[in-house]
Amino acid sequence: MQPTNPAATLALHGGPKTVTRTFPWSIYDEAETEAVARIVQSGKWGNPDCGDEIERFEQAFASYCGSKYAITCVNGSVSLRLALMACGVKPGDEVIVPPYTFITTATSVIECNCVPVFVDIDPDTYNISPAAIEAAITPHTKVIIPVHFGGLACDMDAIMDIATRHGLKVIEDAAHAHGAEYKGKKLGSIGHAGSFSFQSSKNLTSGEGGIVITDDDDLYAMIHSLRNVGRVEGGQWYDHYNPGCNYRITQMQAVLLSEQLKRLDAQTRKRNENGLYLNQLLAEVNGITPLSRSGDITLHCYHIYIFKYDAAHFGGLSKTEFADMLAAEGVPSFRGYPHPLYKQPLFQNKNFMCYAIPETADYSQTLCPVAEQACATDAVWILQHAMLGEKEDMEAFVRAILKIQEAVNA
Ligand SMILES: *Cc1c(COP(=O)(O)O)cnc(C)c1O
Repeated sequence: MQPTNPAATLALHGGPKTVTRTFPWSIYDEAETEAVARIVQSGKWGNPDCGDEIERFEQAFASYCGSKYAITCVNGSVSLRLALMACGVKPGDEVIVPPYTFITTATSVIECNCVPVFVDIDPDTYNISPAAIEAAITPHTKVIIPVHFGGLACDMDAIMDIATRHGLKVIEDAAHAHGAEYKGKKLGSIGHAGSFSFQSSKNLTSGEGGIVITDDDDLYAMIHSLRNVGRVEGGQWYDHYNPGCNYRITQMQAVLLSEQLKRLDAQTRKRNENGLYLNQLLAEVNGITPLSRSGDITLHCYHIYIFKYDAAHFGGLSKTEFADMLAAEGVPSFRGYPHPLYKQPLFQNKNFMCYAIPETADYSQTLCPVAEQACATDAVWILQHAMLGEKEDMEAFVRAILKIQEAVNA
């Protein structure tokens, strides 16, 4: 049977889309194309002989974050691994991570021959729970990797307090969190080190790339060396003091990042405003609950705008079907991770290959109920480029949700 109001036919079923505009990403103009062209024409494409643009960007990013040092590298997975190695982890050490994150938050730990210990997230923020961290600490624990998921700051005061009391290092995975703040401090600058990704979907990008920021002289020197095949600053070209590899970026990436960094603040403020507006609009929609943001979140960069979906208000429609309908309505959105990380075959089958992971590491009984529920039934994501839209676009996103609700409850 056809609905009486054809405008209410869901786009997934052939009706008109609620949101007809598209949301571009990446955003650039002649500033980017001219900067890259200038490097191409200079012939000085690479580090370390020709790394002046790389150093310029590192200094600009460190100063933007309020950190002493920044060290670029090939991506935001290697940046996590280099930060971990520099923290002095040894085979078999335990590293506490959340299960609701991108895979490399955990595989960077495996690649250091260490054991990822998954602890649950908070149901209101989807960030790692400080109480769960405290409960998971053993004599083998060396590092905590909080992930500022979606760009929402973790409870850093509580996490730093735990780390201080137990003598642990904190590496912030800030791959979603360029420009975002906690109590006025840039994310990534609060722990012992902060790691960022410049992969193409991230809020600051050069297609691929990563960076570590730190205030610690020793961490800086070691990460710098590990990135550059174990050479040390002031050392000879053929003198290698540490392991590591060639993880350097190019000058083309560096100038692209320098230009993109100039846009970051305005973009972050726009996403933050749109997120606050969307929170306000969605507060009126039954069955939709935005993640909560406390007063400690002075700036949220909404790499992902996340809301919780309650099927009971949508005629029992599964989250996957809802997310497909929402995307079809033209909202750049997604159902999110289907499983917590420990459910991945890598962990369930212990496919650790050459890495020295102790036999006792076992994920068959791991269970983080909040992460399970977020993946299975609750979490829906709206992506960062859509958060750069106008107020009318946020209103249209809400109309798309209401259209689905009316259609499935009809
Ligand atoms: C993207 C991402 C990474 C890895 O960054 P790459 O540059 O893709 O290697 C790490 N952690 C999180 C949370 C990410 O989203």
